[in-house]
Amino acid sequence: MSNEELNPASCQTAVRRSALSRSNYMRKVVRYYNGEDDWKYKCIDTYEKVKNAQAWELCPNCGLFPKVWEFDNGRATACGCGENQYEKFTVFAESIMSVCKNSHNGQSAIDYDLDALRKNWNHWAKTGEFLFTRGNGRW
Ligand SMILES: [Zn+2]
Repeated sequence: MSNEELNPASCQTAVRRSALSRSNYMRKVVRYYNGEDDWKYKCIDTYEKVKNAQAWELCPNCGLFPKVWEFDNGRATACGCGENQYEKFTVFAESIMSVCKNSHNGQSAIDYDLDALRKNWNHWAKTGEFLFTRGNGRW
C-alpha cells in the first residue's frame, strides 16, 4: 500500500463544514461511506468508519471525517493528518474496559461515556483544544 507519492499531506487546507455547500458536504459524506477517501487516512486497517458521520465534525486541517478504533486501553481517531499510520494526529478517549478497570470496584461501567470520543473530537475540531487528553497513566 503505497499512496505516499499521491498524498499531498503537506498541503493542508483549513476546512469548515459551514463553508461547504450542502451538496459538497453531502458529497463528502457519500465519499466517506464509499471509501473513496480511504487512501488519504493515516491509520492502520483496524480503524473503522463512524456510524453517523454527520454527527462528527470534519477535521479542520485535512477535511476528512474521522475513523475510529477502540482497543483495550482507549479509543482513538484517525484522519489524514500526520506523517504516516504510526506518526499521526489522534484524539483519544478512554475505553470501556479501561473505565471498568479504574472504577471503584474494578468492574463498573457507570462512568463510561459512549460519546466521549465524539465530544472530544468535535470540541477539538471547533476550538483547537481538547476536552481531555490521555493522561494520569490510566489509559
Ligand atoms: Zn485531519
